[in-house]
Amino acid sequence: YGDYNQKIDYVFKVVLIGDSAVGKTQLLARFTRNEFSIDSKATIGVEFQTKTLVIDHKTVKAQIWDTAGQERYRAVTSAYYRGAVGAMLVYDMTKRQSFDHMARWLEELRGHADKNIVIMLIGNKCDLGSLRAVPTEDAQEFAQRENLFFMETSALESTNVETAFFTILTEIYRIIS
Ligand code: GDP
Repeated sequence: YGDYNQKIDYVFKVVLIGDSAVGKTQLLARFTRNEFSIDSKATIGVEFQTKTLVIDHKTVKAQIWDTAGQERYRAVTSAYYRGAVGAMLVYDMTKRQSFDHMARWLEELRGHADKNIVIMLIGNKCDLGSLRAVPTEDAQEFAQRENLFFMETSALESTNVETAFFTILTEIYRIIS
C-alpha cells in the first residue's frame, strides 16, 4: 500500500503569479513540504512541486508551479500558463505596489489561460499586521469585482495556506468533475 500504488484520479495544474518577493515560493514550500525559509532563493529554478490529497473520495495530485524568479524580468511565458486549471494571484499585504500590480497580472493571466480557470487572490504576509499597506476591504472589493476567491495568508506562520490551496482545488474539482 505504498505511495506508488496510489491511483491518481486527477492532476490539477495551478500556477502562482505576482510580483517578486511576495512569498510565492514560501507558500509553495509551506503547502507541499510544510517548510519555510527566510532566505528562500535556494529553490530557484524549480518548476513545480506536487502534493497529493483527497477531495470527495478522489485522489487529486496538485501540481503547483512557481515562476522561479522569471517574473522579475517579466518573462513569464505562455508555457507557464498552459494547461493550468487554477491560478493564485499573490501580493504582499505590506507592499501596496504588489497589490496595485494585480490588475496587470490578472490581465496577463486572462490573456494566456483557459477561460474557465479558477483564480484566487492571496494577500500574503498577514503575520506582519502592523505593516499592513492593503486594507482587507480593498482586496475584497477587487476580488468581488473580478470574480476571484480571496484569502489572506502567512507562509511564515502557516495561516490559511492549506485552506487557500484546498479551497481552490475543491473549486477546480467541482467544475471539472
Ligand atoms: P517570491 O519571490 O514571490 O517567490 O517570494 P519568496 O517566497 O522568495 O519570499 C520573499 C521573502 O519574503 C523571503 O525573505 C521570505 O522569507 C519572505 N516571506 C515569504 N512569505 C512570508 C510570510 O508569510 N511572512 C513573512 N513575514 N515573510 C514572508
